[in-house]
Amino acid sequence: MKAALIEAPGKVTVTTVPDPTPGPRDVVVDVAACGLCGTDLHILQGEFAPKLPIVPGHEFAGEVVGIGSAVTELSLGDQVAVDPSLYCYECRHCRNGHNNMCERWAAIGVTTAGGAAQYAVAPVANCVKLPEHVRTQDAALIEPLSCAVRGYDVLQSRLGAHVLIYGSGTMGLMMLELAKRTGAASVDMVDLNPARLETARQLGVSASAADPDELDRPQGWDLVIDATGNAAAIQDGLERVSKAGTFLQFGVADYATRVTIDPYRIYNQEITITGSMAVLHSFERAADLFATGVLDPDIFISHRLPLDTYPEALAQFASGQGRKIIITP
Ligand SMILES: [Zn+2]
Ligand SMILES: [Zn+2]
Repeated sequence: MKAALIEAPGKVTVTTVPDPTPGPRDVVVDVAACGLCGTDLHILQGEFAPKLPIVPGHEFAGEVVGIGSAVTELSLGDQVAVDPSLYCYECRHCRNGHNNMCERWAAIGVTTAGGAAQYAVAPVANCVKLPEHVRTQDAALIEPLSCAVRGYDVLQSRLGAHVLIYGSGTMGLMMLELAKRTGAASVDMVDLNPARLETARQLGVSASAADPDELDRPQGWDLVIDATGNAAAIQDGLERVSKAGTFLQFGVADYATRVTIDPYRIYNQEITITGSMAVLHSFERAADLFATGVLDPDIFISHRLPLDTYPEALAQFASGQGRKIIITP
């Protein structure tokens, strides 16, 4: 089959690899769509994946075209979205229900072959069957949405919160959609690129600006979400959390990124600084939310590109053009 392959740091190609074969409790998915994400760029930089080469792609959906000998839950022809998380279920964190902190954490498309290919293998336990009205080629959005749902679980958002989001890329916009639906009193957004804020306005952001000083809220925001991973944005965001407010590190920063914190203020104003990593018991709910139309795929997916163009598509994504780029093998 044809697949994208990250061969070494900085080196990605499209090539032919052996067709995957399912284990007893696996299915083979004919990939209809696979989303590109910052994680793919980190893997390309040599981070996250313990060993290269790897077929990337952890945000995908498709049709079941092969089933393992012990699979009874799914049938050929079923349309599924795939939760990429692979947990050991045995370590201390798994046993405490904190599986995304698994000591043997692994994920399809990060540590094992992923969905940027014609076919991908997934455990049946990781597949969520899509309702008929959901287009499979849109369902690659469910995985990033499940990360946003996990972020919201960490935030423990309360009704009437004032929310500030840094970064109006796909993840920031998903946070915006969830904030609107969890009863935020206001959702403001910051992005250095004014063109990107246009989509945020289209989706009903309360206020938006390239410079947060233009957002008139001197008392700060109850919930500040970084969806950039950028040091300057994170630093600024930490300083705009209101008393008793919470800062969520949701964007993926480079390993070397450092910011300064003000311990006296954290103490004196009871500031919470927290993070959320990937998916935790949130994929099923994201699939349900997606089926209710929480995201408009025609807004969230800006490009649908063929698998042959994977290296160029990744470069385009890295340049910050567009929103979610979907590869359609
Ligand atoms: Zn992702
Ligand atoms: Zn574990």
